[in-house]
Amino acid sequence: MNFYDSERMTDLLKPHGYQLDDNEDDADLIVLNTCHIREKAVEKTYSELGRIRDKIKTRKENTGKKSIIAVAGCVAQAQGEEIMKRSPWVDIVVGPQSYQNLPELIAKVDPVKKNKNINIDFPTIPKFDQLNTNIEERGTSAFLTIQEGCDKFCTFCVVPYTRGAEYSRPFTSIIEEAKKLIDVGVKEITLLGQNVNAWNSKGLDNKTWGLGKLIDELAKINGLKFIRYTTSHPLDMDIELIKSHRDNKKLMPYLHLPAQSGSDYVLKMMNRKHTANEYLKIIEKVRAYNPQIAISGDFIVGFPGETEKDHMLTLNLIEQVNYAQAYSFKYSKRPGTPGSVFLDHVNEDTKNSRLYEVQELLRSQQLLFNKKNVNSTMKILVLKKGKKKNQYLGRSPFNQSTYFSSKNDSLIGSIIDVRITEAFQNSLTGNIVSDF
Ligand code: SAH
Ligand code: SF4
Repeated sequence: MNFYDSERMTDLLKPHGYQLDDNEDDADLIVLNTCHIREKAVEKTYSELGRIRDKIKTRKENTGKKSIIAVAGCVAQAQGEEIMKRSPWVDIVVGPQSYQNLPELIAKVDPVKKNKNINIDFPTIPKFDQLNTNIEERGTSAFLTIQEGCDKFCTFCVVPYTRGAEYSRPFTSIIEEAKKLIDVGVKEITLLGQNVNAWNSKGLDNKTWGLGKLIDELAKINGLKFIRYTTSHPLDMDIELIKSHRDNKKLMPYLHLPAQSGSDYVLKMMNRKHTANEYLKIIEKVRAYNPQIAISGDFIVGFPGETEKDHMLTLNLIEQVNYAQAYSFKYSKRPGTPGSVFLDHVNEDTKNSRLYEVQELLRSQQLLFNKKNVNSTMKILVLKKGKKKNQYLGRSPFNQSTYFSSKNDSLIGSIIDVRITEAFQNSLTGNIVSDF
């Protein structure tokens, strides 16, 4: 989501004379787009800010050059004043719901007065309506935010506080942006949202539509070849969306559905509002409609009060699902969340060993899933050149990084049949069969 926001900020600043630069040393403006989800991400913000001051800002200002530093994203939202205090060389702090105001905030920066500009409002006019929709270049695969914020209030999570209440972008605005992306050569769109499958809006028939119907409508756009979405919540996994996984050939067979834990006690303390069994039932249903689908997920280990038995239940759930790929994290206490006052903290060593066990199991499942693809032929969307000579990197329908070679110099953006010859932990390799 931050990646998408960064791209929108770039679009927004282009008419004001800014353009992306690979070399930060020369940049007139540095926007640090930050994440608040875990403590580590926040610490990184402050160390990056120190590095930018030492390496860039001081040097540029000493030679009389302009250097504006802006902090955007969820750390900006949560710690606006604190950032200005801890890193007084920052000029602008702008939250994820108000970055459409970036050009005005930049115009207000006065290097002599060293004034500070903070804008962390949740404006009533949704930012998407104000964003410049001038889209120039997005490569082959692009993100498109359709939903933001969250009303679910899991006890560990900062999202409802930093991204605000659940908001679904209107149907027409999504279709409009999707068409613009296709016009600039995009072949694959990943729909984004903190709870993307909670998306709902008035559709073409003036009735309320859910994500399944939106995906079916997007699939009618000619140049759009592949559709993905992330991240979903188990409670919002409705039958229409599940059916799209069977019927819609442009919707990729991949579902990222976080479980967080396999223990009903922990799930209750997390306020996830579903049990482990209910989660398993959803997976079963999804597989009944699409047996090939790759299942991915998120897990948190060491939530306050998590016992060895709870941890075993998580391993047990992972065994039952058999994931194609999944993310796992140590619980990180987030200020302001209900979980931050839970007392029964799991010690760091236990968290580390539980994380290791969860990750080892997930790694073995991922490798097995990848190995099952050997000798099969898959349609690969070619994303970019690889590091080796004549090598290309693409993405498989199951979201696997797939490498192959070709002397043809212009394959980026094509969809190629590749026969898989070898499978590794995080990637596949294969040979071209024929052009699509
Ligand atoms: N809306 C999605 C998740 C969005 S946050 C859902 O409900 O499933 C992305 C992931 O970050 C979460 O799934 C969770 O695994 C992880 N996460 C969020 N807060 C965390 C915390 N305080 N500590 C550790 N991991 C966390
Ligand atoms: Fe955070 Fe997801 Fe829970 Fe919302 S549903 S509070 S985004 S983990």
